[in-house]
Amino acid sequence: MSKKDYYELLGVSRSASEDEIKKAYRKMAMKYHPDRNPDDKTAEEKFKEISQAYEVLSKKEKRADYDQYGHDAFSGGGNGGFGFNQGFSSAADFTDIFNDIFGGSFGVGQGKRGARARTSGVRGSDLRYDLEITLEEAFRGINKPIHYPTNVKCKSCNGSGSEGATKPVQCNTCGGVGRVRSQQGFFTIEKTCHVCNGEGELIQNKCKKCGGHGRTREEVNISVTIPKGVEAGYSIRVNGKGEAGVRGGGNGDLYVYISIAPNKFFTRKGADIYCKVPVRMTLATLGGEIEVPTINGTYAKVKVPAGAQTGDKLRLKEKGMPYINSTNRTGDMYIQVTVETPVNLTDKQKELLAKFEHECNNNSSPQCEGFFKKIKSFWSDIHSN
Ligand SMILES: [Zn+2]
Ligand SMILES: [Zn+2]
Repeated sequence: MSKKDYYELLGVSRSASEDEIKKAYRKMAMKYHPDRNPDDKTAEEKFKEISQAYEVLSKKEKRADYDQYGHDAFSGGGNGGFGFNQGFSSAADFTDIFNDIFGGSFGVGQGKRGARARTSGVRGSDLRYDLEITLEEAFRGINKPIHYPTNVKCKSCNGSGSEGATKPVQCNTCGGVGRVRSQQGFFTIEKTCHVCNGEGELIQNKCKKCGGHGRTREEVNISVTIPKGVEAGYSIRVNGKGEAGVRGGGNGDLYVYISIAPNKFFTRKGADIYCKVPVRMTLATLGGEIEVPTINGTYAKVKVPAGAQTGDKLRLKEKGMPYINSTNRTGDMYIQVTVETPVNLTDKQKELLAKFEHECNNNSSPQCEGFFKKIKSFWSDIHSN
């Protein structure tokens, strides 16, 4: 059997994203799945081909190997035909594709976990919540109310899925195991029992409120405690606030991921805070004191030394962010001096500056002086060579 190009099989370009590949496979697999095409050998063959292609292209390493070596990456003789056993870790991998892709679509309302394990104790999914806070909130720490929709335990049946006092009965199709095996060509495929959706038991009298799922979709309102000093990318786990488990299974957790909105005045490097402050040319020249805002909402006085230059950093000790998980350590604040050249001058001011310029000597602006000296010697070096 000659091998078809995996990208062509799935009808995607060689630069397709993981998501595009998954979508393409999902669409085709739905069409050619043996359950939907009983006794159709062509469909079965096609299904195997696309599953193989997906198995390779959905895994970064395998895809890279395939891109470089083509089918040779996974052949190596041996089994003939498929070469399926080479390069593929195990038949279980193949089952995983089913679970990944079909766990939720052939089953009813059950995620990956549901497809894998039997009923009792199917834990709910973890959830992620992205929360943006301000730098001031990160400085202080804060309790933030958040709300999100999720599956919660059905109050009517207390999560059992059964109406009233009726009890579920064992599924005869899988004998209560939740999985069935079938032979398809070269390999045995184990998959979730489609009669009980992997649960191993069947509810005879479904709860009217949740339709037997044991869970209902609701908006959850909670308050999250964000510690002071928190940095972007930090995540807070809120125990048990993820999706409700299925029939007695524990709840998943909620992970709150923190991001911090850009601040107009302050930037942050770890626990240190930076603030660019414009300083008048005269003050920078003569030295003096300026007032600067600090992250705690007050002002602090800073001495600017005479002759301060743009780019100079003035340190304000312990006026930065608190270190997370530390009760007393605090970062510093750095004032980044930006000397402002005077503009919109009156004739009088111009006159004074002209006088000032007249009084200047080589020591007044050593950088300018030094710079032009260097340029001069640079040119004369060139000309003498
Ligand atoms: Zn219910
Ligand atoms: Zn079953």
